[in-house]
Amino acid sequence: MKTFTSLPIWAALAGAALAAAQELVERKVLAMGTVLELSVWAETRAQALEASELALREVERVETCLSTWKPESELSRLNRTPVGEPFELSSDLERHLGRARHLWEWTEGAFDPGLGLLVQAWGLREGGRQPSQSELEQALAAGSMASLEVGGGRATRRSEMQLEEGAFGKGIGLDEACAVLERAGIRKAVLNLGGQVRFVGQADGWPYGVAHPLERGEIVLEVVSRGGSLATSGNSERGLVVGGERRSHILDPRKGTPAPDVGSMTVWARDATTADALSTALFVLGPERGLAWAARQDGLEALHLISSPQGLQATATPGLRGRIRGLVAELELTFLATPALATRE
Ligand code: AMP
Ligand code: MG
Repeated sequence: MKTFTSLPIWAALAGAALAAAQELVERKVLAMGTVLELSVWAETRAQALEASELALREVERVETCLSTWKPESELSRLNRTPVGEPFELSSDLERHLGRARHLWEWTEGAFDPGLGLLVQAWGLREGGRQPSQSELEQALAAGSMASLEVGGGRATRRSEMQLEEGAFGKGIGLDEACAVLERAGIRKAVLNLGGQVRFVGQADGWPYGVAHPLERGEIVLEVVSRGGSLATSGNSERGLVVGGERRSHILDPRKGTPAPDVGSMTVWARDATTADALSTALFVLGPERGLAWAARQDGLEALHLISSPQGLQATATPGLRGRIRGLVAELELTFLATPALATRE
C-alpha cells in the first residue's frame, strides 16, 4: 500500500471538532483498487496509529479473500473449481457469502453476486462489449446466486456461474475493518473507501458528499449522518461504451442487460455491506420502485438523484428529512410523503 499525505476536508473538520478530546490519526492509502481514507481517534496517538494499521491490514485480508481481480484470491479459486465439486471455505468466506446470499434474497435478486458470467458477457471490466444473443442466454441461464450451494463449510457451484464481488466487496472490507477497530477499543472513526463511508461510533453530523450524476467531481448535495454507512451507485463512476452508446455498469440480473441510466442512488444503512449492495439493487429497481421499497425497510434510507433538462432532482425517503443539504441552486429536493404512502404504490 502507498501512503499519501493530503487530508480529506471532512477529516480536517472533524479533527477540529474533536481535537480537544482525543488524538486523531489520518491515513490515505490505495486499497481494493481505490483510495481508502481513514480517520481514527484514540486517547493516545500510538493507540490510534496501531488501530489504523490493524484496519488497513484487515482491508488487505478481505481483498485477498474476495477480489476476483486477483487470480489467487479465495473467491477466484472457488470460481475456478469445477461445477459440482465442493470447495472448502474459510470461515471468513463462508460468512461473506452468507451476507451476500441474504442480501440477494432480501432484494429478490436485484442484487445478485452470482452474475459474474453477465459481467464477462458485457465486458464490464474491459470498457464494454456487445454480447451475442446465445452468450447472453447462457449467462442468464447459468449465472445466478441460485446456482451456488453453501453449507457445512463448503460451497458447490451447480452451474458455470461466477461469483462477482463488485457490488459488495468494498462494503465487506469496510465492515471488517471497523470490526477490528472496535475490537481494538476505538470508539470513533470514519473510513472512506472509494466514496463509500462507514462510521465507528457516533460522529457529530458528518457531511457525505453526493456528486452530480454526470459529473463525478462536482458535489451537489450532502447527506449528514451520525453513524452507519453511506454508499452511492451511479454511472458517473465508470465509463462503459457498448456499440458507441454509454451503458450502465450495473446489470439487471433478471433481464441480463444493463440497467437503464437513472442517475444515481445513495443508500444509508447501519452497515457498509448492506449500503454497498443495496445502492446497486435500488439502481436496478429504478427510482420509483427502489425508493418505495427502501422506505418500507427497517434501518434503510435512500436518495435518488437525477439530472434532467429541468435541473437536478433529488427524491429521498422520509427518514432523511432534515439530513440533506443542497449545495447548488438548481437542486430540487422532495421526500416520499410517508412509508405508508409508499406501501400503496
Ligand atoms: P456498485 O458500483 O457498488 O453499484 O457495483 C457495481 C459493480 O457490481 C459492477 O461493476 C459489477 O461488477 C457488479 N454488478 C453489476 N450489477 C450488479 C447486480 N445487479 N448485482 C450484483 N452485482 C452487480
Ligand atoms: Mg454497491
